[in-house]
Order: sequence, then C-alpha cells, then structure tokens
Amino acid sequence: MPCLYVYFYVYVCFALTFSSILPDTSLLINVMIEKLYNRQSILLQNGSTFRFPKGTYTLMLETIKTRQYNGVLEGKILKISCPRFASHRIRTFSVAKIFRKLIAQEHIRWLQTYVEVMHERYFPNVQSNFVRFKDMKTRWGSCSSKKNLNFSNTLLFIPPNLQFYLIAHEMAHLEHLHHKREFWNRMATLVPTYKKDAVQLRRTRIVFELKLS
Ligand SMILES: [Zn+2]
Repeated sequence: MPCLYVYFYVYVCFALTFSSILPDTSLLINVMIEKLYNRQSILLQNGSTFRFPKGTYTLMLETIKTRQYNGVLEGKILKISCPRFASHRIRTFSVAKIFRKLIAQEHIRWLQTYVEVMHERYFPNVQSNFVRFKDMKTRWGSCSSKKNLNFSNTLLFIPPNLQFYLIAHEMAHLEHLHHKREFWNRMATLVPTYKKDAVQLRRTRIVFELKLS
C-alpha cells in the first residue's frame, strides 16, 4: 500500500513539473470520445433541406429582436426565429429543440402506423397503449409497464435499419419487460443483425450545429 502513495506522489510531481509540455487532457478525452462515438452532425442554417420519411423539408431561419424562440411548419417549410442577441450555445440548443419537435409532430402518424404494421406482422398477440415521440436526453426509447411506447424525437435522424432495430426493441419489451435471455432470443428472431445494430445505435450521437448568416 505505501508503494501506491509513492507512485501517486511521483506522478503528481511529474505532472506538476511537466504540465506545460504534456498534451491537453481534455483534448485527448475529446479525441477518445470521437473515436468511441459515431457523431453525426446536422447543420441548421437558413435554406438547408432535410429528408425525412414524409418528404423533404426546408429550414427558414431568422433572427429577431425579441427574446423569444418561435417555430412553425408551413407545408414543407420549417420557419424558426431566434433572438438576435443570445449566446450561440443557447441558440443552438433552442433552435435544435424546436426543429426536432416540429419534425416529430409532423411524423407522429408515421410512427404510429409503423408500430401498427409491426403489431400486425410481429406482435399480433400484445397491445401497446400510447405511442409518442418525446424529447429524450439520454435514451433512444422506452416501454413502460403500462405498455406506453416512447421514442426519442431524434429517431427521425438515424438510418432506417436503426429505426427498425429501436422500434422492434421497444416493442419486444411489450412481451418481455427486461433484458434477460428471453428478450434477446426474441430480438434475434425479429432483427438478425440486432447485436451489430445495438452497438451502432449506442455509439450514435446526433449533434446539431447552428449557423446564422
Ligand atoms: Zn430495452
């Protein structure tokens, strides 16, 4: 045990002495995270177009004098306005939140139909209750004991194979409300590539970037 203290002391002395020439730790951590995660950047700027299951949508971004953030969908045009004077971080967060919400509202029927078709094909003997999008921060989806299916509104930004995996995963919880062997055996019958998809989804990070002209 005393040996550990000695090592620690030597390490601290070394770090303090050579901290100016050692690489920045936060930079190293960022590089490691970049390698671990598959970051997909979504650039939000005026005139950008986005393809979703219900079609192609164009973003119209404007800055306004007030402090409010507003968003409305007119046909296939997403109109979002944000305050002229606000920090870039808060503006990016708020615009991305409105953007995801509007696209999710537009696709709620698409999601419910997706689940209905899955019920007919793979889950005819179980029922689900509410099916909805949620602004989830750390999860992709959930299935409650009341059989409510919730999906992150970021689901619309991931590839179709991962959408299928995620929806099948949450629906399999209608039969098995746990992650034990029976659950994964069921997943294997639904999605042969479930192991690969699970890893891919876990590593996927959708990052929104805002560019105002
Ligand atoms: Zn699960």
